[in-house]
Amino acid sequence: MTGLPRSSDATMSGVKKVLVVEDELKIARLVRDYLRQAGFDVLEATDGVAALQVARAERPDMIVLDLGLPGMDGLDVTRKLRESSSVPIIMLTARTEESDRIVGLELGADDYIVKPFSPKELVARIRAVLRRADATIGGGEVVRAGPLHLDIPKRRVTVDGEDIELTSTEFDLLLTLARQPGRIYTRAQLLDAVHGVSFESYERSVDAHIKNIRRKIEPDPKRPSLVLTVYGVGYRFTDA
Ligand code: CA
Repeated sequence: MTGLPRSSDATMSGVKKVLVVEDELKIARLVRDYLRQAGFDVLEATDGVAALQVARAERPDMIVLDLGLPGMDGLDVTRKLRESSSVPIIMLTARTEESDRIVGLELGADDYIVKPFSPKELVARIRAVLRRADATIGGGEVVRAGPLHLDIPKRRVTVDGEDIELTSTEFDLLLTLARQPGRIYTRAQLLDAVHGVSFESYERSVDAHIKNIRRKIEPDPKRPSLVLTVYGVGYRFTDA
């Protein structure tokens, strides 16, 4: 229920603190043991109220949050956390919780992983999200991602050094995605990023813009390697 004892110099030495919120004890134990082995400092909570308490008291670097919790569920926890914190959140979701995944991402969760998952994959996701959280490219004038180069003040795009003509909306969409490679964006979030508003009926227009962007920047638009589809959810820029 509460944080486990840990060495006081953990933060000083750069060890990342991960809060695992999971009511299924078997999964919680597996995740805890695996994360410890991977060098993380692990805190635990088995319900939403305890999770918020531990998050407030211990200031973890990352929260792994099961959505299906007794009482206050994972979405409520996310909502509550985001009122005062930008701590990275990875949601653990059941295969059937697709709409919850979208809501979670829109509430500000950073990523999700579907049960059953391999602990190894979870560790890889945690590292990717922490890397993104540490990265400083978000505020820069130029975004480089793979063969892509976006000059923000000039609104100029090149792929492998070749100029690409994008519309203003296409540029803003691509910039949003490429600024945080690997981060999943829902269609509503992408619409927000380009127009500041989102209406469900317009969400499909994102697909049309993405199709155009792919036609212009992908070596093989039918098999995209830069702007990737996340089925049932949205899009992300490759972090490979
Ligand atoms: Ca659960």
